Amino acid sequence: MRFLVLTIFPEIFSSFWEHGIVRRALIQNRICASALDIRDFAGGRHRVTDDRPYGGGCGMVMKPEPLAAAIRAAMKLAPTARRVLLTPQGRVFDQHMASALSAHEGLILICGRYEGMDERVGDGLIDDEISIGDYILTGGEVAAMVVMDAVTRLIPGVLGGSESAAKDSFSDNLLEHAHYTRPDNFEGEAVPEILLSGNHKEIEKWRLESALVRTFLKRKELLKNRSLSQPELEILEKWCRDIEEIIYTQSLRGADTLSGDQ
Ligand code: SAH
Repeated sequence: MRFLVLTIFPEIFSSFWEHGIVRRALIQNRICASALDIRDFAGGRHRVTDDRPYGGGCGMVMKPEPLAAAIRAAMKLAPTARRVLLTPQGRVFDQHMASALSAHEGLILICGRYEGMDERVGDGLIDDEISIGDYILTGGEVAAMVVMDAVTRLIPGVLGGSESAAKDSFSDNLLEHAHYTRPDNFEGEAVPEILLSGNHKEIEKWRLESALVRTFLKRKELLKNRSLSQPELEILEKWCRDIEEIIYTQSLRGADTLSGDQ
């Protein structure tokens, strides 16, 4: 996977590329990454990349010529790469998009600044518009890092065996189970005993139930989009029976209280 970022602040990326799993992926040549400075494609002594908006109003707009020239230069370097504009007006990025993007040979990530770019750059030069969420950032650089980070960890071989992406939250419309590490007692709270048992079958069962509980409590809508396996259905049916029992017991108590009042 080749990442080519177009930005007026290329220095922002050096630290991102020098740490953690992204760094390891670069060293192992599973990804390569570089940033082109849009200013290098701007004419004039001052290399200006923005100008006032036609029609008036506040803020500045990214000039089309330097951006288009930078995109064309990137296309020469990575002809098969998908050209992605980071914009709050794009499709909202999620794990499924990360997975689809990871199948491409390269991504050209175009970072806006100011009020965004001149509308005409989009025509024919952009394949995809991606937003990282419904809020406005000052620039596309952080969004480009989000996309690169999520995509990198899905490239085969990037995560070691112990860091499987298949079990991650969202990979299958299920949040991941709870995690614990040493010490086995932290400020009076013990690790669930089953995790210390060494019984892998029971541990898997516990993890599945933990994943289901968390998804149900935190992101119930994900469960509606998941086709549940038999063991999962059995867990949900057990909860159903437990809840019915609690309600039934409460209703009996209610009857007791009423008769006690009389
Ligand atoms: N005036 C624009 C926002 C410009 S923000 C509007 O209202 O639509 C400046 C730049 O930051 C954008 O060009 C884009 O590249 C980036 N950006 C801001 N918010 C973003 C988001 N949620 N996702 C991706 N990129 C974003």
